[in-house]
Amino acid sequence: MITMENVTKTFGDHTVLQDIQLHVPQSNVFAVIGPSGAGKSTLIRTLNALEPIDSGQITINGSDIHNPKININEARSKIGFVFQSFNLYPFLTALENVTLAPIKVKKMAQADAEKRGKELLDSLGLGDKYDAYPNKLSGGQQQRVAIARALAMDPDVMLFDEPTSALDPEMVTEVLDAIRKLAIAGMTMVVVTHEMNFAKEICDEIVFMADGKIVEVAPPEQFFSAPKSERAQAFLSKVL
Ligand code: ADP
Ligand code: MG
Repeated sequence: MITMENVTKTFGDHTVLQDIQLHVPQSNVFAVIGPSGAGKSTLIRTLNALEPIDSGQITINGSDIHNPKININEARSKIGFVFQSFNLYPFLTALENVTLAPIKVKKMAQADAEKRGKELLDSLGLGDKYDAYPNKLSGGQQQRVAIARALAMDPDVMLFDEPTSALDPEMVTEVLDAIRKLAIAGMTMVVVTHEMNFAKEICDEIVFMADGKIVEVAPPEQFFSAPKSERAQAFLSKVL
């Protein structure tokens, strides 16, 4: 579903992604972990072309998303992206945040978009928040609206960049539960996270990055019990 082939990216003379190879099969969940500055955010941002790449190729569901000839807005509409900072539109209600893109980009009828938007908000435990503005919602609620907003476009894949890092601890679980439900439903996902227990529990593979490289890709039971690389061993000894 997602492939990265020989992807390299530099900022000036700093190589932040070096010869990245990654293959995420349909309905798999990959967690990207690693120290700060490793290139995790840059990697996930290249997956929906928020960051250009210098060389290599990225395809998502067959679409070569860094090819200038493709319609990037159309391609991006099939790639859900959830940021650390929820980035909701402050002057729109929760439901309006969720229905905006389906109405504007997909030209969905307002009534249909609202019906689907309400279903999504209901499924995320926000059935009583349709008309709430973001500043009246907790961080955890805002992040769940952001997830509903991404899902409203019926994406092929969902990408998360540290979706719980900006949340108070008591709100982390509700957001992780929402992501867990998506995993169970078979959504293909790449999740940059520091939540090691969550990664262990729901992910098919752990992608460990350091210094712009993928150092190790392994199933969680293997990665957490017997990491192969010294970098991963050192990292885990600090975070576990
Ligand atoms: P991580 O998410 O793993 O903490 P990032 O992908 O944010 O890492 O950053 C990787 C490296 O790229 C860091 O050294 C960071 O300083 C650098 N970097 C990120 N974005 C930019 C940018 N827009 N311009 C220059 N350097 C950047
Ligand atoms: Mg980051």
